[in-house]
Amino acid sequence: MTGVAIEAHALTKTYGSRTVVHALNLEVSRGEIFGFLGPNGSGKSTTIKMLCGLVEPTSGEARICELDIRKDGEAVRRTIGYMSQSFSLYSDLTVEENLEFYGRAYALNRVRRSKRIDELIDFSNLAQFRRQLAGTLSGGWKQRLALAAALLHEPRVLFLDEPTAGIDPVARRDLWDLLFRLSESGVALFVTTHYMDEAERCSRVGYIYDGELIAIGSRDELKKQAGVTPQGTARYSVGGRDAIVLLGIARERPYVRDATIFGDQLHVIVTNDVAADRIAADFGVAAANVEPIEPSLEDVFVALTRARQHA
Ligand code: ADP
Repeated sequence: MTGVAIEAHALTKTYGSRTVVHALNLEVSRGEIFGFLGPNGSGKSTTIKMLCGLVEPTSGEARICELDIRKDGEAVRRTIGYMSQSFSLYSDLTVEENLEFYGRAYALNRVRRSKRIDELIDFSNLAQFRRQLAGTLSGGWKQRLALAAALLHEPRVLFLDEPTAGIDPVARRDLWDLLFRLSESGVALFVTTHYMDEAERCSRVGYIYDGELIAIGSRDELKKQAGVTPQGTARYSVGGRDAIVLLGIARERPYVRDATIFGDQLHVIVTNDVAADRIAADFGVAAANVEPIEPSLEDVFVALTRARQHA
């Protein structure tokens, strides 16, 4: 067995005359957390559905742990787990009964079912809610239960479609701790999210725009990609004064190419013929308040999206 968990070659889906996923190539290794980002309608769910064997590709191919998604559909389904924001839990069944239900749906025999339910209740820390109705759990605990249900048959590849949408920050962090533990055990995770802090936690990230995968790589690779910080420019954070006032000043400076408020700081892209002390003087702040910064992943996606929109 190789270390490759997911591979897609020229994977394409067309609906009528519209290509919603265009010649997508990617590879995800065992134990990797791959973040899949892109605006709404860009083709993320369609990609996941093709990889899970729920939607037939128009052309191209893909394999899950060396199984062909077209020819080995049944084996692929046994190898993968899938969890989404709207994972169907039965609100009138208890935590344990929900797991029992999914264990039967995955055709686990009684002994294995009971062993896996115990393991997963332990893994997801759900013991205290074991006999509580799922409908009465908070959003974060519901998502843990959904994750446990998706793991009953010990999938080697797990697809998560916006698993943390709408849950609070502490619950999100707790769920991510579980995802890290899964990846350490060798499971490959393919996660879609709109949260930048989650994207920053992934080992590699892909960005899909209008059906095309326009960037793929580690965080650091993406941040160094051409066009993110346009040639002849530099990025600084400026602080020490009301950010709204700073933004007003930025708009009047011809050397400022772009300016965005982040908390109480203003992030600017300036032509690099302008030194930091000149920026400090122009913005009326102390020199120590102007610092060179790396682009964030959000900066990367904003830059890539704008470049596409202008193209
Ligand atoms: P995302 O998950 O990134 O929001 P989707 O993969 O759901 O995007 O959708 C990508 C595009 O494909 C959208 O424009 C959507 O309207 C279109 N689409 C998805 N499913 C179908 C379908 N069954 N028939 C026609 N168009 C579809």
